[in-house]
Amino acid sequence: MDVDIEQLLALAAAESARHRGTVADRPVHPGVDREAMDAAFTTPLAVRPADARRVVEELVAAASPGLVGTVGPRFFGFVIGGASPAATAADMLAAGWDQCAYNEVLSPAAAAAERAAGGWAKQLLGLPATASVGFVTGAQAANTVGLAVGRQRVLADRGWDVARDGLFGAPRVAVVASEERHATVDRAARLLGFGTSSIEPVASTSQGAIDVDRLRTTLDALRDRPLIVCLQAGNVNTGACDELRAATTLAHDRGAWVHVDGAFGLWAAASPRTAHLVDGVELADSWGTDAHKWLNVPYDCGLAFCADATLHAATMSYAASYLTGSGALSDPVLGDLTPESSRRARGFAVWAAIRELGSDGVAELVDRCCALARRMASRLEAGGATIHNDVVLNQVLVSIGDPAGTDVVVDAVQREGTCWVGATTWHGQRLIRVSVSNATTTEADIDVSADAILRAARDA
Ligand SMILES: *Cc1c(COP(=O)(O)O)cnc(C)c1O
Repeated sequence: MDVDIEQLLALAAAESARHRGTVADRPVHPGVDREAMDAAFTTPLAVRPADARRVVEELVAAASPGLVGTVGPRFFGFVIGGASPAATAADMLAAGWDQCAYNEVLSPAAAAAERAAGGWAKQLLGLPATASVGFVTGAQAANTVGLAVGRQRVLADRGWDVARDGLFGAPRVAVVASEERHATVDRAARLLGFGTSSIEPVASTSQGAIDVDRLRTTLDALRDRPLIVCLQAGNVNTGACDELRAATTLAHDRGAWVHVDGAFGLWAAASPRTAHLVDGVELADSWGTDAHKWLNVPYDCGLAFCADATLHAATMSYAASYLTGSGALSDPVLGDLTPESSRRARGFAVWAAIRELGSDGVAELVDRCCALARRMASRLEAGGATIHNDVVLNQVLVSIGDPAGTDVVVDAVQREGTCWVGATTWHGQRLIRVSVSNATTTEADIDVSADAILRAARDA
């Protein structure tokens, strides 16, 4: 069947542009039910081939009623981020070019883009220029990589080669992290064979940052064990950052590996106004962050950094008889730094996002989201709401009236459609959770959203 590929890709581009162009005018969440979506997609398995254009048209028709306006300016749930114009186009090119970002042979362009974009990211985030960078699916994968490299190091320090001998019979590693760590740290601990019982939770401050005195006590009590300390830049509820300099220094004095989960909070380093929140970040051994959150790169893209590039490659690489270019740990290929082997060329979108903004633009994006979060907090407070966190970054925790009624209010806000916020449990209370991480959000978006939230609370 003859396919006019140019027309087909133009159709995909036009539909993507239409979704983005109208997203601000539609309810943020379509509120469609699961049965209706299944009915649109679940046709009997076709026997005969279909025309590609018809397939794409069918896909657009089936998917459109179930698309959520996460790319738009008033989606404040989770920490989602938007998709900048250049990064979106770059990701479309990555698909169109179909480059496999495994090694230099498969794509000299993808390899160079990842080296360049990784270098820019390290500059923006204040990380050592010599650190290695793996382009992974997200912060979950980046945290897993960081803890895997840490596992290799702290066990090697005890004369144990975990790559060869596994964990059976190994000295028991303790993963020290605050009680406010992100849940992906627990999953990483499970996947890496530590088990969640090896996590030693440390109490946190009222804002959700690790309590450094308690960290010291915990580390001293565990001094006989190999130690990995997992710190956090950007608590997913409050935005609070651990005191990285003090905590890392303490941990290093006791021989620990230090990983920083900075899924969105690491980007505080990119602005002079917020960089103090992550002071000392460069001292850690590994870092995980997302490009698909605050940098506004389309899903999915995360970055796994390691100060010891050779150890990073030694931990993650593999060799196969038919592959060329892998195995030289001093000059690792892309696939030596990630848990995946074959994967999409994520470097193009990160390169484009950073190139589009420049360092001033990234700083301005961070500042703007923080200012909009503060604006949201003050508008809601003026309307009678209570703010439960110090709005140091882009996250706001809110209650209106009795927190026991939060879920009813959140449900009403989501159904009304002006904006989308989620609920969370923070210090035992149900609260509304607002995350401002989309580059297209304006003051007017904050104002109509604050009004919608207050209205829903009054009506509830
Ligand atoms: C979002 C988030 C993660 C997980 O990131 P994914 O991109 O979903 O893998 C981990 N840690 C923190 C602090 C986060 O905000």
